[in-house]
Amino acid sequence: MSEAGASTTRVAIVTGAARGIGASIALRLAADGHDIAVIDLDALACSETVRGIEALGRRALAVGADVADETAVEQAVADVTAALGPPTILVNNAGILRDRTIGKMSLADWDLVINVNLRGAFLMSRAVQAHMRAAGWGRIVNLSSTAALGNLGEANYAAAKAGVQGLTKTLAIELGRYGITANAVAPGFVETAMTAEVAARVGMTFEDMKQQAIAGTVVGRVGQPEDIAHAVSFFVDERSGYVTGQVLYVAGGPRG
Ligand code: NAP
Repeated sequence: MSEAGASTTRVAIVTGAARGIGASIALRLAADGHDIAVIDLDALACSETVRGIEALGRRALAVGADVADETAVEQAVADVTAALGPPTILVNNAGILRDRTIGKMSLADWDLVINVNLRGAFLMSRAVQAHMRAAGWGRIVNLSSTAALGNLGEANYAAAKAGVQGLTKTLAIELGRYGITANAVAPGFVETAMTAEVAARVGMTFEDMKQQAIAGTVVGRVGQPEDIAHAVSFFVDERSGYVTGQVLYVAGGPRG
């Protein structure tokens, strides 16, 4: 195998990593031996994740940036490079929901969701791939969703997450020759603040919403952030260099 060993330390960026799935991914990649830049809207909100990474013996940096803002993204990647070194792992995890059925969906709800989930992944990938190309090695993992297959009240989010799949496959095609892989993880229901907020918005208890989600699985439980982090860790692994352009549904049952 011509690739470096499984334990090579890289600099990874995880977006939206102040909490939830992103925080879990950041901690898992730190446990895998990588230094981590934690990007979220508010740098202060990243403190707990940063402490967790440092407790694992890895270097960490908190960066406040809106992934949908081109200037902020360029600055964030420059700051990461100056502080930790050139990033060669990128996990595009930052995402938001603004659910409404189509007749009630405002243009602002459409644009915001497309901009954070899809434009953000594009901007971050464009900025980081230059460092990956220079290194001759890279791993991009994008967070899609089972919503990419269609979901009530989520025209904006479903379109963004389907777009993320197209972006992923195209990045794989364009960047493969530089030793860079691009893959997507598409979670089903995962227990985080995001899903708790959905329950609150539709007037359900979180427990009832989880029971409803469990009924849609074959494994009899909802997902945890660590389930998603494990799939990301696989794609990032040095030994996964022959796996690219794939979408892995992590949803407690067959999807896709
Ligand atoms: P979460 O708990 O809401 O966490 C998302 C994080 O991203 C928050 O810290 C949020 O910051 C941050 N963020 C939002 N907009 C941002 C922006 N423009 N720039 C930088 N950071 C931003 O969500 P999660 O449940 O962990 O979901 C993580 C990813 O998995 C998302 O892409 C989501 O679409 C996807 N996913 C989740 C589920 C699920 O069931 N939870 C299922 C399928 C896919 P603030 O707190 O300041 O807003």
